Amino acid sequence: MSELTLFDRVIAGEIPVDKVYEDEHILAFRDINPQAPVHVLVIPKQKVRRFAELSEQDPLMVGRLFQGAAHVAHELGLTESGYRIVVNNGEHGQQTVEYIHLHILGGRQLNWPPG
Ligand code: 5GP
Repeated sequence: MSELTLFDRVIAGEIPVDKVYEDEHILAFRDINPQAPVHVLVIPKQKVRRFAELSEQDPLMVGRLFQGAAHVAHELGLTESGYRIVVNNGEHGQQTVEYIHLHILGGRQLNWPPG
């Protein structure tokens, strides 16, 4: 049996978050340790542990997650200035929560390459 993660508890309403968007399929909330003026996490309500597992998922679910993130970024006023979507996967990707999440980072000029 897989362990419950922090974001399972967020979905269950057990951990309060600063929610910016929610619909039937996704939840978006502000990161507790923001790395940019806008730093929002987008998670699917249907649990997936890692980006690497997306290949086994319903493409509709994957599409809803990515389209949802684009919608949230737009609602946050980032469309014109631009932003970055980050998905950390596994140990080398420094994924710390084993529940897939898209980071939306924006509100300042971001640098490349990332660390
Ligand atoms: P990862 O490193 O797995 O890609 O991203 C996990 C993110 O979750 C981190 O950016 C971290 O700051 C954020 N985070 C960790 N604990 C909490 C929390 O309790 N609330 C919120 N809103 N974000 C959290």
